[in-house]
Amino acid sequence: MAALKYSRQREAIKSYLCGREDHPTADMIYTGIRGDFPNISLGTVYRNLSLLVELGEIRKITSDGADRFDARTAPHNHFICRKCGRVMDVMIPVEDPVKRVNRDWNQGEVEECRMEFYGICSQCTDSAKCS
Ligand code: ZN
Ligand code: MN
Repeated sequence: MAALKYSRQREAIKSYLCGREDHPTADMIYTGIRGDFPNISLGTVYRNLSLLVELGEIRKITSDGADRFDARTAPHNHFICRKCGRVMDVMIPVEDPVKRVNRDWNQGEVEECRMEFYGICSQCTDSAKCS
């Protein structure tokens, strides 16, 4: 019974995330699904998000602020606006630094490279022009 309840909550968390492009935080997801699951706790949301990341069904984006979550698992990078904090997909292929380093560096095996692009998004640039 309990396992079924947890998997339904996990499904709800995943489908909520699949419908969003804005890479929400755990808090945003919690607020978003509380309408359908009034008894869900923030802790349960965190636990299920960690499990989904472990299962490779979603991705976690770690940056300066709170962790963000992404249902898009295909390889891509993220742009984080320094002004408004929005996180956007950059679907332009960037050469994998892991391969490059493993080719020429022999003091260990690199498994992962985390990379985010930082700058000012076009919406923030436009609003600066208007004022
Ligand atoms: Zn911005
Ligand atoms: Mn993304």
